[in-house]
Amino acid sequence: MGGRDTTMVLLDENGVRCDGRKIDEPRRIMIKAGGLKNADGSAYIEFGDNKILVGVFGPRDVHPKHMSNTDTGILRVRYHMEPFSVSERKNPAPSRREIEISKVIKEALEPAVMLEKFPRTAVDVFIEVLQADGGTRCAALSAASVALADAGIPMRDMVAACASGKVADTIVLDINNEEDQAGQADMPIGYMPSLEKITLLQLDGILTPDEYKKCVDVGIAGCKIVYELQKKALYEKYFGKGDN
Ligand code: ADP
Repeated sequence: MGGRDTTMVLLDENGVRCDGRKIDEPRRIMIKAGGLKNADGSAYIEFGDNKILVGVFGPRDVHPKHMSNTDTGILRVRYHMEPFSVSERKNPAPSRREIEISKVIKEALEPAVMLEKFPRTAVDVFIEVLQADGGTRCAALSAASVALADAGIPMRDMVAACASGKVADTIVLDINNEEDQAGQADMPIGYMPSLEKITLLQLDGILTPDEYKKCVDVGIAGCKIVYELQKKALYEKYFGKGDN
């Protein structure tokens, strides 16, 4: 969220957004399962202009050993933006923002992954943002779920993620970078559709109680769209291109 840019038309009189979408329309989403030979599981996602690659390693021995837990496995997540992923070169050193997003994604994935089946081990999730355009945490979380499933890690459900938000006093699905900068609120949601459980919910901006509820409903509808594409990506890898 940045300062409000009053010169840009975020929503015109026909309900068309600055990138031509309708208020309930997500950006183009493409998910591919697999692709990295040296990882136990991997996935690639394009979510609008976001391009993100995820590699999963494990369950494997924990180094340093004192970080291991005799009762359960542990999940470690590193979210990293390439210096060339945004128009102004980003410093390659981990920023506060990347450390925060790594933590948020880890906590959003933990309820889904059956870590208790792998005591003393670690599952490592490496997220490389190749191109960023608003909504990378949601796209990365969705791709990480597919990569974990591709690695054969037992899961209760996949976490599908999508943001909703408020733009020009209207609740819309899937905020892009311009809408994030100039809009009024951004609400990333991670959701396990089969279990009907939210594992990530953040809010940047101010909403009335009614707007808050609408944002959650719209965001969950977006997560359900993403979920179908996550399942499709896994079907395509393991059963060839089919109807599913
Ligand atoms: P998210 O990517 O999950 O929406 P933020 O709201 O923190 O997370 O970031 C919004 C967008 O701002 C990012 O997707 C990216 O396009 C842009 N951005 C983030 N960090 C930088 C940076 N260091 N330089 C330029 N743009 C950035």
